Amino acid sequence: MRNVVIIGSGCAGSTAAIYTARANLNPLVISGVEPGGQLSLTTEVENFPGFPEGILGPVLVENMRKQAERFGAEYQYGSVIEADLSRRPFRINVEGDWVETRTVIIASGASARWLGLESERQLIGKGVSSCATCDGRFYQGRKIMVVGGGDSAMEEANFLTRFGSEVALVHRRDQFRASKIMLERVRANPKIKWITNTVVDEVMDPKREAVTAARLRNVVTGAVWEQEVDGFFVAIGHIPNTAVFKGQIDTDADGYIISHGGARTNIPGVFHAGDVQDRVYKQAITAAGAGCMAAMEAEKFLEAEGH
Ligand SMILES: Cc1cc2nc3c(=O)[nH]c(=O)nc-3n(C[C@H](O)[C@H](O)[C@H](O)COP(=O)(O)OP(=O)(O)OC[C@H]3O[C@@H](n4cnc5c(N)ncnc54)[C@H](O)[C@@H]3O)c2cc1C
Repeated sequence: MRNVVIIGSGCAGSTAAIYTARANLNPLVISGVEPGGQLSLTTEVENFPGFPEGILGPVLVENMRKQAERFGAEYQYGSVIEADLSRRPFRINVEGDWVETRTVIIASGASARWLGLESERQLIGKGVSSCATCDGRFYQGRKIMVVGGGDSAMEEANFLTRFGSEVALVHRRDQFRASKIMLERVRANPKIKWITNTVVDEVMDPKREAVTAARLRNVVTGAVWEQEVDGFFVAIGHIPNTAVFKGQIDTDADGYIISHGGARTNIPGVFHAGDVQDRVYKQAITAAGAGCMAAMEAEKFLEAEGH
């Protein structure tokens, strides 16, 4: 029987592991198929406090893991494929093996939606990004492209004009899901160039390990062309990793966990941490902060139950 099972090994999960391990709760962290979470996909992280020269994303999450292990946290590779949260102890199925636990911290993140191109995958962290706040600054005075048609694409495009010499906004239709107010803001921004009815067929150039251009195709005229670009931002949404808790944990229509105050979910003893509940900030530091909150709540919960 475990005191705490933490689902996810990103900034939220590993921070929760550091705190619960230091409280002598011997947490078990289920790492998922992406050990270290989304920061393991990127290169430089310049906005995590404490690293004046920046730090590589994979190194930062590996350090968090080592820090948690130093105090007794155990990490197990594998995915949670099923969970029974209907009674205590809770039961968690990790690829066929059931684990029983008194508390659960869900830190399974929200995966960025990508276009699905192989070239895009190869260039993530090397010019391809899903986070303007994180990576916009790397493209000071350079050419930026944003793909998407919703509010987050509009927000990212607007924000990126602080850095880029120009920002091309590519959308597959000429109608936008974005709200009127966001569209108006973007239309009023002279640095943003609209490219509508257009899809991206390829991001270049994986061989050079940097983004140099995008091959675009107009879906109405069939015209194909290459456009020079240095920073390629995909802003087509995120998918919260909550499918395995469906019907048990309260989520909103998009699958983000609904907070019941602090780090609490609708089930006493089950807590949330990080991007899996956060549709607004989605930063390493906010995820780490949320991991701390969830750990402290789990600890208090166990204390009140006499463990
Ligand atoms: C390319 C890129 C660059 C970024 N750069 C920055 C930056 O510079 N600065 C910054 O602050 N933020 C950055 N971010 C955002 C940051 O990575 C996230 O906000 C942060 O990682 C969220 O942490 P998390 O722990 O909540 O979730 P994640 O990091 O998404 O971790 C989720 C974890 O849950 C696991 N998991 C999922 N499903 C299951 C399951 N069923 N069973 C078990 N485990 C599961 C995954 O394997 C993973 O370990 C970037 C994101 C990307 C994609």
